[in-house]
Amino acid sequence: MTVYLVGAGPGDPGLLTMRAAEILASAEVVVHDRLAESTLLDLAPPAAGRIDVGKAPGGPIRQDTINELLVSLAAEHVTVVRLKGGDPFVFGRGGEEALALAAAGVDFEVVPGITSAVAVAAYAGVPVTHRGLSTSFTVVTGHRRDALDAETDWSALAAVGGTIVVLMGVSHRAEIARRLIAGGMARETPVTAVQWGTRPEQRTTRTTLAALGDTVVEPPATMIIGAVAGLDLAWYERRPLLGRRVVVTRAREQASGLVARLAAAGARVVEAPTIAVADPADGGAALARAGSELAAGRYDWVVFASANAVTRLLAVLRDARDFGGCRIAVVGPGTAVPLAAYHLVADLIPDREIAEGLLAVWPPRPPTGGRVLIPRAAAGRDVLPEGLVAAGWEVDVVDAYRTVRSEPTPHQLESVADADAICFTSSSTVTNFLDVVGATRVPPIVACIGPVTATTAREAGLSVATVAETHTVPGLVRALIDALR
Ligand code: SAH
Repeated sequence: MTVYLVGAGPGDPGLLTMRAAEILASAEVVVHDRLAESTLLDLAPPAAGRIDVGKAPGGPIRQDTINELLVSLAAEHVTVVRLKGGDPFVFGRGGEEALALAAAGVDFEVVPGITSAVAVAAYAGVPVTHRGLSTSFTVVTGHRRDALDAETDWSALAAVGGTIVVLMGVSHRAEIARRLIAGGMARETPVTAVQWGTRPEQRTTRTTLAALGDTVVEPPATMIIGAVAGLDLAWYERRPLLGRRVVVTRAREQASGLVARLAAAGARVVEAPTIAVADPADGGAALARAGSELAAGRYDWVVFASANAVTRLLAVLRDARDFGGCRIAVVGPGTAVPLAAYHLVADLIPDREIAEGLLAVWPPRPPTGGRVLIPRAAAGRDVLPEGLVAAGWEVDVVDAYRTVRSEPTPHQLESVADADAICFTSSSTVTNFLDVVGATRVPPIVACIGPVTATTAREAGLSVATVAETHTVPGLVRALIDALR
């Protein structure tokens, strides 16, 4: 019914617009180009059709054929997404597609995208305009050698004095440079060429107009020519984990914090969840009972050793006030974060973020009361409950969840094999990874969140490159950065 001409941005999935994400989520079929980032295609429902029109046996599919395809898909589907790199109307042939749709009486909408002409420059640290250096920018294509002069008046362009952004111009860079110099531009004019901009593979090359023809530049690249190209405000390529592939083995439900931090440091995250969180064997009956006891005021302390325990217990409570006067302890600050989402503040957080650390700071048992609830993973460590019992406390250990094995997809396994590093956040991630993926696929650098996990890894024969000093997600990311430096 409606064809959406959607700009996908230059590559970084974060540069997709919210409107584009919303439309992709409701797509019935997505028609995309070769360069489309696979994570963007994942935003479409799994059942949606995906048609790659950039990769056909005899070269890319002709534009007429794509136009016809869009018209015929519109007759069969409510939401057809035509996903295009950058902005659909900047050298994207989106205008031709819109004309064909209009001619066929098909409704269409355009979702502008962030164009590589501006964003790739920005990711290389080059502002396309800059006070005192350039007050205009012109985006040109250098695609067709035969049409180089017919399409662009290079000497007129040279005379403008603003920034020139060349798309699709890598193969003819020498001719382009020659024409701009002939038009009066200085031979020393700075040029910045950026390959795979905004992606983990981004590579920036800095040269001059005179040397451009002899400088190695591989497509796809954006070339920025002009005084602004001499500014070097590099930030993206400076990030400590840029382009490093890091495997995250956490259960999908828990991985987001780690994934976000690794991505912020520039890493390309390979998610290979080998554990998933499931209901405990009794289906949660014991946890529900513990919840009622808590609401009845029968506990003095609740101890959380994981974020899962927090969400699982809170899910069986009806009212946050069920905690009443019960105090809350956590094993580490990482567990205090999910609590904060419920506006609960831990009363006790040890300095050393393991069970032994908590025991060391645990208060003496009061003359009356002294009951502790520990909702936790089935088959968790017994150090804490045993320690508390030894100190005279009455302890109820309740299975709040179970971690079960989850099999990575063949695609995930392939990506694991090329990774630079792997993060283990618990002993069960180590054991499951080895069971499911195998020791031969462990990436060269192994990073563990804490000493318990590291011991499990070493006992399994792995060589552990680094152990986080603070046993938290930020601590783990810091350790990994140091190890990969
Ligand atoms: N509609 C797109 C441009 C399509 S033309 C947009 O608005 O960005 C394709 C050209 O864009 C490529 O040949 C290259 O010159 C440039 N380009 C697209 N993505 C790029 C990227 N990630 N890094 C560098 N250049 C890119």
